[in-house]
Amino acid sequence: MARKPFIAGNWKMNMTVESGKKLIEELKPLVKDANCTVALCVPAILIPEMTKAAAGSNISIGAENVHFAASGAYTGEISAAMLKDYGVKFVIIGHSERRQYFGETDETVNKRTLTALENGLTPIVCVGETLSQRENGETEKVLDTQLETGLKGVEDATKLIIAYEPVWAIGTGKTATDEQAQETIAYIRKKIGQLFCPKCAEKVIIQYGGSMNAANCKGLMAQPDIDGGLIGGASLKLDFATIVNYDK
Ligand code: PEP
Repeated sequence: MARKPFIAGNWKMNMTVESGKKLIEELKPLVKDANCTVALCVPAILIPEMTKAAAGSNISIGAENVHFAASGAYTGEISAAMLKDYGVKFVIIGHSERRQYFGETDETVNKRTLTALENGLTPIVCVGETLSQRENGETEKVLDTQLETGLKGVEDATKLIIAYEPVWAIGTGKTATDEQAQETIAYIRKKIGQLFCPKCAEKVIIQYGGSMNAANCKGLMAQPDIDGGLIGGASLKLDFATIVNYDK
């Protein structure tokens, strides 16, 4: 069955109100005929202004994180209700930078994922191995743990997006080859089939992320199991439109 491709940007801690608005204004006409779902996940403080800038277009503004509690003493965090106030639909969860620098674990990924789903948000759950884990032949074992723990208690896996992001490819300019990305994403799909159901595996959208750019997007998107991309650096410029239009 056909899965609608989904290309999402991850601005990380980049852009300001002015530069973000300018980029969105320039992107709007370039991506308007996209055959995929288009989203830009932006820093929380930019969500209101970027939502206004993207209004009336096919660009959906998403978030880069969500806390698992409904409210409370969690200084610096953002709740699902706060995101929903601004019409946010998509939220990145468990990005490797959150895992590496902010103590995110498979358990907190799981809590955030469940909260997002309970609140009608679509989590983009990031998984992926480090270079040493790949070199030691541990990729599948790492993905098994991330998926088993991170998605524990999820009722319907088709309500989330998975982003396979090999840590060694993020922001390094080193992309996984088309074959490496396809092989690993096919493995993730198989695992979803085992954890949930074969139909869920067929339906779930799995993105590739890691130095995806205007030059390599066509090859990656041509792979049968790759349903889109999570784009960091290239989403900060008009190259994002080239990626969104990979099929033209
Ligand atoms: C990311 O941040 O999810 C990412 C894939 O970054 P980059 O495209 O810059 O490697």
